[in-house]
Amino acid sequence: MEYEVVIGMETHVELDTNSKMFCACSARFFGAEPNVNVCPVCLGMPGALPVINKRAVEFAIMVGLALNCKIARHTFWERKSYWYPDLPKGYQISQYQYPLAYDGWIEVDVRDLSTGNWTEESTRKRIRIRRAHLEEDTGKLTHVGDKSYVDYNRSGVPLLEIVTEPDIRSADEAYAYLSALQQIVRYLGVSTGDMEKGAMRCEPNMSLRPRGSTDFGVKVEIKNLNSLRAVRDAIAYEIRRQMALLERGEAVRQVTLGWDEARGVTVVQREKESAHDYRYFPEPDLPPLEVEEAWLDALRQRAPELALARQDRYRRDFGLSAYDATQLTSDRAVAEWFEQVVTCAADSAPADIVRARAKAAANWIQTEVFRLMKARSTPLADIATVKVQPGQLFQLISLVESQTINTNTARQIFEEMFDTGADPRAIVESRGLAQVSDEGALRAVVAQVIDAHPDQVRQFLGGQEKVFGFLVGQAMKATKGKGNAQLINRLLREALEGRRA
Ligand code: ADP
Ligand code: MG
Ligand code: ZN
Repeated sequence: MEYEVVIGMETHVELDTNSKMFCACSARFFGAEPNVNVCPVCLGMPGALPVINKRAVEFAIMVGLALNCKIARHTFWERKSYWYPDLPKGYQISQYQYPLAYDGWIEVDVRDLSTGNWTEESTRKRIRIRRAHLEEDTGKLTHVGDKSYVDYNRSGVPLLEIVTEPDIRSADEAYAYLSALQQIVRYLGVSTGDMEKGAMRCEPNMSLRPRGSTDFGVKVEIKNLNSLRAVRDAIAYEIRRQMALLERGEAVRQVTLGWDEARGVTVVQREKESAHDYRYFPEPDLPPLEVEEAWLDALRQRAPELALARQDRYRRDFGLSAYDATQLTSDRAVAEWFEQVVTCAADSAPADIVRARAKAAANWIQTEVFRLMKARSTPLADIATVKVQPGQLFQLISLVESQTINTNTARQIFEEMFDTGADPRAIVESRGLAQVSDEGALRAVVAQVIDAHPDQVRQFLGGQEKVFGFLVGQAMKATKGKGNAQLINRLLREALEGRRA
């Protein structure tokens, strides 16, 4: 029997606000001493009163809008009761009946990543978003031997829970969804999205069913996934495990699983919870949340163009490959930097020239800019801080375009630009790097090379075409790499053919 996997994703995103969801404590706990960012509110002291963090609500709405959700204009907070030492109040403030954002969708490009190689082909898939609501994070428990420690620095950090409809149909689709979501929260600047640091945590719910069936099978939930890779591996493993069970006529049990990264297997964490009674009820200490139209409009105005839309535009307007478009939009700062180069390049130039320049800019960024940033340990997100300005890269591109310098020279110049911020034209002049395109001068160089290498000339005339490359190399060397390569090629060939007569 052929089976189909059905996946719905629950994701928690920690919002990167300065302060916590309901108190003024710092929300930046990474690397801090335990229990320093705490106050009576986030420690759950009786009588302490919460206050809503407006920034967190704003961030949540921004994500909701990016996910094409409806935004609830009137919502209220609810208490979700449960009792663990990492939740000092004995309940979590959350949204249950009316999530801030609901009924949305996201489009993602799904690629076959099984070979580990990039594929240009992809399938665009729409995944519906059921809801996104705001809540607060718990503290962190650490168990050492027979002792347990709790750190409340994370207690009360704003958390956005995003839940999809069960629309995901493969491990690759789950991967595509999560990387798109991660990219969105990063583009919006609302979260670091770092799974490794727990700033984005996801729990796939999944089940199998016979292909063609419209019923859902029994689902399991997988926890403890701290990388995109782990998500893909865990789902792939779980598909195999459940398929084997079903093939043997056994039933899948509804359980919560953990992913054991080292062994590459899922392990049962708990059996189906006995209909967990969270006893939700409205939070009496907080006013309802009203979202005014003017506020919503202001946030709509601030919405940046997202990666997928930019990719489509780069491919359509500049003829870039899917690969180039994906690379250039992987980080919003890089995409904006690239677009600044193109803006300079587009200045009153015809469309085909703009396309060629955009393509050149794409190449420069992906090779030299990325290489030098990596070598200088500059993260891609900090591209705006590199000394070379987008307009200067465009100058360099036009120097190559006008054949003032050749590509080789341009590469050397670029490194100097990168380190000093100097204009390429100034470097060309001060170092005398302009390309030699003077026919008379190059003809003399070619004649010299021919005289100096009689053996190679004889070999060439005897039919050994590959010697030609050697002779071109000698001529380039004689011009200290500044010779116009195309011209040297033509002149050398003419001179050699002249010898045949
Ligand atoms: P629970 O109450 O167990 O958390 P929900 O109905 O709230 O379950 O759904 C949680 C997530 O699981 C959602 O993303 C939803 O799309 C997905 N889901 C629900 N039923 C199934 C199923 N049978 N197979 C796969 N995913 C499912
Ligand atoms: Mg659940
Ligand atoms: Zn606090």
